[in-house]
Amino acid sequence: MLHAHGLRVTRAAVSVLAVLSAQSAALTHEEVLATCRLASEAGFDRVTVYRVLDRLTQAGLADRLMGSDGVARFMLHDAQSSQLFECEACHRLQSLPEDAELQAVLERLSRSLRRRGMKPSESALRIRGTCADCRH
Ligand SMILES: [Zn+2]
Repeated sequence: MLHAHGLRVTRAAVSVLAVLSAQSAALTHEEVLATCRLASEAGFDRVTVYRVLDRLTQAGLADRLMGSDGVARFMLHDAQSSQLFECEACHRLQSLPEDAELQAVLERLSRSLRRRGMKPSESALRIRGTCADCRH
């Protein structure tokens, strides 16, 4: 995956990618760092992890998402990473469940915009509320 995106395959890059792949929610830099350190005996310093997250984001492998708390969170880039649920209490960002009808609605809206002379390039949907953990 790193090779395919022209990135150097370093131990830190592989670890960060593994951490992001294992999560369905977006993680802060601190959370990625803590998980990398838990998973490995070797030390990971915060600057290295920050640089890896930056490179993954620039290469389009990860998305850098801003929560309404102003903290950046990172998630592996896929079709679902632009369709998110944000908890207003803990600011966790999670992918919305897949929904074939939603895809159809977004495509219909795109066609409708094109008919009006606009050229849609991307869409993002964010639903805010309270997550299951914070509701208890
Ligand atoms: Zn929450």
